[in-house]
Amino acid sequence: MTTTDNAAKARISASELADVDRAHIIHPYLSATTTERVVMAKGQGSTLWDVDGREYLDATGGLWLAQVGHGRAELAEAAATQMRQLEYFTSFWEFSNNRAIELADRLAGLAPDNLNHVYFTSGGSEGIEAALKMARHHHYRRGDTDRTWILARHRAYHGVAYGGGTATGFPLYHDGFGPMLPDVAHLTPPWPYRTDLFGDEDCTDVCIRELENTIAEIGADNIAAMIGEPIMGVAGMVVPPDDYWPRVQEVLHRHGILLILDEVVTAYGRVGQWFAADHFGVRPDIIVTAKGITSGYLPLGAVLVDDHIAETLGQQGFPMGYTYNGHPTSCAVAQANLDIIDREHLLSRATEIGTYLTEKIATELKGIPVVGEVRGVGMMLGIELVSDTATRTPLPNPGAVADAVRREHGVIVRDSAQGLVLSPALTLGHNEADRIAAALRRVLERTDASGT
Ligand code: PLP
Repeated sequence: MTTTDNAAKARISASELADVDRAHIIHPYLSATTTERVVMAKGQGSTLWDVDGREYLDATGGLWLAQVGHGRAELAEAAATQMRQLEYFTSFWEFSNNRAIELADRLAGLAPDNLNHVYFTSGGSEGIEAALKMARHHHYRRGDTDRTWILARHRAYHGVAYGGGTATGFPLYHDGFGPMLPDVAHLTPPWPYRTDLFGDEDCTDVCIRELENTIAEIGADNIAAMIGEPIMGVAGMVVPPDDYWPRVQEVLHRHGILLILDEVVTAYGRVGQWFAADHFGVRPDIIVTAKGITSGYLPLGAVLVDDHIAETLGQQGFPMGYTYNGHPTSCAVAQANLDIIDREHLLSRATEIGTYLTEKIATELKGIPVVGEVRGVGMMLGIELVSDTATRTPLPNPGAVADAVRREHGVIVRDSAQGLVLSPALTLGHNEADRIAAALRRVLERTDASGT
């Protein structure tokens, strides 16, 4: 089927859509062994329906972003109203637009203290690239031209462009794509459950010692910034000890190294606060956000920048721009999305329903041999799966577990490197939380150490 006739395209029947997809769409990360396609057609709250009318419970919030849930007519109206006024104009040079200005003003009010400046993007990866370039350029403008190194962590995920993709700490994202960006060093992630990384020592102590040693080896005057997700998402919703970020910040500050927090997943309520920086009590120099800013209704990202960096960059302008910087329609939808988060008190709800869901899952999964740990902050939950709870050896192929939960129970969860991750809408109902926990129990209680 290679027709380009729109009328003909609209006539593709439900039963043919999967075939046409297989013929024409390149999917990110599609397993080479699957021919299956799940073709979604409708969403409401945390419920999705595919083109055959099968119902699913979305426990992933789209891709970790549907803060207000699917199917909000209010957001469709916001987009339509703005498109009738001004769908798009550039924000390059001296041009701006009312919606981008209003949103930047609101974000500056929500963000931690000195992060009063906003650089808009279309998504997370673009935001990470902007943040890394800002960090290097800030030092360059100040005459610190050797400060090029970026510190990141193993098991981090910072998107798929070459800068963030290099900072990402999984071989999968590097293999076959090299050479990657030079001058990037990876550190041990703060992952208390992984005792193989820390032995009997305190997790934060080990990480801080390694950070200090790495800075000494590379030379503080050669390092631009450290980047990290406050809670590591793709790794498995890895929650660091409370003292990790404050102590990292102290070391970086002492050496003049900038701290970039990648809050692409955590920002805008998912952890029960607007930003995870507030949860951990840190004041980064740059925060990268995307996803939840529009709940995914339109692509948008916002890099929040501290006064001192904006001042350096402002002296001669920041020589980097994306066509969709400050897209007025995306910004209008973001405003309407933040209005819903405010009006429906979704920050406190994330904590309330997130605690309920975590406890419910922990109770249902108690005593199941392949379940190592259930953890979470707000509506970011990770389940560590192991083939042996004593050695904490990761269970092979957690993807098979996620597939079974979807196919057998219609509940969509996602596999991580070493288990399962959940990030439902902040509006999830208690009975929906119960259904998620029950579906996980039914599949995991019959899963053996081989992962089948
Ligand atoms: N950073 C983090 C922590 C993410 O989880 C993601 C995407 O999941 C990204 C960056 C990249 O964002 P995007 O996929 O919008 O480019």
